[in-house]
Formats: sequence, structure tokens, C-alpha cells
Amino acid sequence: MKAALTAILFLVLPIFSFSQQLDAPLKKSNFKKVTSYSELSNYIHELDAQSDLLNVQIIGHSVKKRDLYALTFSSTEFGKDSSKIKVFVFAQQHGNEQSGKEGALLLAEALLKPENRYLFEKIDFALVPQVNPDGSEANKRRNANDMDLNRNHLILTEPETMALHAFFDKYLFEVTMDVHEYSPYGEEWKKYGYRKNSDITVGTTTNLAVSGEIRKLSNEDYLPNILKYLNDRKFSSFEYCPGGPPDVEYIRHSTFDINDGRQSLGIQNTFSFIQEGMNGKDDFIENLRHRAEGQMTGMRGLLEYVNNNKDKIKRLVADERLKLVSGLSSEEISVQSEHVGNGNKLQIPLLSYFSGTDSVVNVNDYRPAVKSVYNVNKPVGYLIPSDRQDIAAWAARQSLTPTPFKNTGDYKIEQYMINRIDSIDFEGDIVANPDVSVRKFSIPVKDQDYFFISTAQLKGNMIMLALEPKSMLGLATYAKYAGLLASWGSYPVLRVVKK
Ligand SMILES: [Zn+2]
Repeated sequence: MKAALTAILFLVLPIFSFSQQLDAPLKKSNFKKVTSYSELSNYIHELDAQSDLLNVQIIGHSVKKRDLYALTFSSTEFGKDSSKIKVFVFAQQHGNEQSGKEGALLLAEALLKPENRYLFEKIDFALVPQVNPDGSEANKRRNANDMDLNRNHLILTEPETMALHAFFDKYLFEVTMDVHEYSPYGEEWKKYGYRKNSDITVGTTTNLAVSGEIRKLSNEDYLPNILKYLNDRKFSSFEYCPGGPPDVEYIRHSTFDINDGRQSLGIQNTFSFIQEGMNGKDDFIENLRHRAEGQMTGMRGLLEYVNNNKDKIKRLVADERLKLVSGLSSEEISVQSEHVGNGNKLQIPLLSYFSGTDSVVNVNDYRPAVKSVYNVNKPVGYLIPSDRQDIAAWAARQSLTPTPFKNTGDYKIEQYMINRIDSIDFEGDIVANPDVSVRKFSIPVKDQDYFFISTAQLKGNMIMLALEPKSMLGLATYAKYAGLLASWGSYPVLRVVKK
């Protein structure tokens, strides 16, 4: 008996310890403790050592010099097989939103199981489980420079966001998702008597300059699909709906600003999303297992959807990106927009504080659509004065390549005159709204005085939204660049347009 038992133990133990080792740190703690940076770091290196599917890349460093990791999953050499589709999911830009990171690590564990290998026949997948390790260690939203990383994707002043975009630029992922948490426990909602209660919410791109075809596929196909996928797996889900409470403030979908994770990549005609899980009520540990598994399931659902629709998404993204890169179409871009109703009604699932049960509430002021209030013609490019080191440095952080400008006579150069500065409401904030006129710039432009940034590139629409003086999303709306609107009446950045 004893000998037989020993033999069984010998057989069982190595298998047992192998699978134990693969368990994500959250599982090892029996879902009682959030994963620290060093546990995360050790864990992903252990996975890397055990799997031929996974490679760990260091894509940059946080303010406090912690490594920022990307886990790349590929059955071949990552990023090299052009027939595959590239998917990029990143979590925990906000350090106090712990379930995104935990869900990402649970996903990494699950993806290495042999039964999930089929996903990587069509997909090269990159996962950044923790964009903001410094914030995570302190359980704080912002990074160690006290910056909100998810408002930093246009000006890119922080090492974490710069690393993320450099990584994106290297592979040009066709599909991206930014993973967050939302807090439904605000005082206004308590007063209202109800709060949001969905385990997972998912949002799409809303900026009008993002390809309409991509937004259509996102809203009409991906969204219903992923919400059902989550519900089928016992995670309540709903479309991402900031605003409210109803009758106090309108309810809309995502911001159309391009300074967050989802939209800064979406504006490059990427199939791009935000996922937000509900955070803990009293502390960040509360209900952590369900929260982390919900986040994982949403990420997993994205991979399944992409796997099932690979050719369609890949073709769509390629076509829509070609339009940006070719710069052939002369188009108008909305630089000022607003959230408006479109006749659709919203019934939002809420939890009653009074009865503790789920209800559905009719939202009277629901504004699901985005409407332009000011359009500008897209120029061929912009001329930046060589002495504007601030804009040159911004362009470099965005990996924009300045080129010399040769006026062959096909172009005319325009200059904005700032007549006065008014203001405009942008999602409840007041931003500068200059009154401008355009004049022909007749001084010859010399090579050494200006550098040229073309709009015929993947970031073409982003460049335009950044540099147009009337853009409510532009550089001039950031304190760092506010001086752009006050240069002796003339706006320093010139427009190059076809004659
Ligand atoms: Zn967040």
C-alpha cells in the first residue's frame, strides 16, 4: 500500500506543481490580495520561461524606472506574419483600477493552455497588463508625476504613454482595447437613489474623424456581440455610458477627445475600444475575483470576436488606413463637436439603493450621437516655425517625421489671424474658442525657417486636430501650449493647401 501510494504521489506531484506554478498571483492568494509589481514581474518571467508561445518585452519605464512589460503571444515570430491580425490590449493606466491588471494576468495564464492555442493561428496578441506600475503600487489613479495618463495621449509628456505609443507605432495593431474600472458610488447617485451596476461596460470610438465604417462595425456588430458574450458567462454588461444621474445630467457615450487610450489609437483608424469593470465599493479588494474574471472574460471575448472576423476587420482597417496615408481625399474634419440626441431612447439598468434590487430606468436626456459644430478643410500639411522647440519636441514624441518643404507652385500657404478669444463648452469644461480669419501668407518660406508635417499619414487626422487653432481638442487647449493662441495676433503654425 505504502509503496503504491508513494508511486502515485511521484506521478501526480510534478504535474501538480507545474500547474500551480502557472497560476496567476491573484489565484495563488486565493483572490485575497492584489498583485504587486514584483509579483507581476516574477510571474510573467516564469510564464515566459515555460512557454514557446509567449515572449516578454520591456517597452519602456515608468517615472520611477519600473519596467513596463508587454507580453507578446504568437505561434510564429511576433508581428512578422502579415496574414495574421495584430491585437493589443493594455490595462491599468489608472493605478487604483486593479482588476484590469488582475484580469490581464488571469488571461495570460488561460491563453497558455493548449486548448486555447487555436487563437494564435490567426492572431498575434500583445498584452500590457500594467501601464502605470507606480500608481498601482500606491493604489493611486495618476502616475508618479501626478499626471492622469489617460488624458495624456495627445501631448505624450509621460514616459508611460510615450512607451505605449512607441510600441503601437512599431507594430500598427489593427485592434486595440484599453481596460479600466468605473466607480458608480458617487454622492449624486446616492441622492438619486440608484446607481450603475453592470460588471463590465464597453465603449467604442466616437470622434467623427474616425472612419465611419469602423464605428459602424464597432457599434452594430462588436458591441452587441461582446455584451452577449459577457452576459452568457454570467457577467452583467452594458454599453459604456458616462454622465447622469438621469434628470440631473445627460447620459452620453464616450468622450470624442483624442487624448485617451482608445480614441488616440482609434483616430488612426484602428478597431479600438475601452472596457470598464465596476470597481470595489469599500476597498479595492472587494469582490476582486468576480471583477478580475469579468475583465478577463471581456478581453477573451475580444480575441474570440477577432478570431471569428479576422479577414473582415483586417480588410476594413487596411482600407480605412490607406485613406489616411494616401491623403488623396480632400475632406472636412470636425474640430468642434457636441453630444446630441438622435431620437433613440435609453433604458439603463441601475441598482436601487432603496430596495437593493436591479431596475431599469428610462433616460429622458440621452445624447448618443456626436454632431459637428465646426468643420475645417484638411490641409496637405502644416509648416511649423523652426524656433518652436515645444512643437518640434511634441512632433518627435509622436514619432512624426518633419520633412523639408518645397513649394512647387501647386500649393498656397495660409495663416490664421486670431481676432479674439471666445470660449466654448466641451463636455462641461470651458475651453478657448478663438475667432479666426485666414489670410494668404505671402512671405517666401525658407527651408531653415520652417519644418513641414504632412497630413498624408496614419496620424494625419490627429495632427489636424492637434494643430488647428479652433480645435477644442488641440494642443492650444493644454496649459503647456496655451501661448499658441497669443502670438501677436497671428497663429504661428501655417497651413499648406492645394491651389
Ligand atoms: Zn481608468
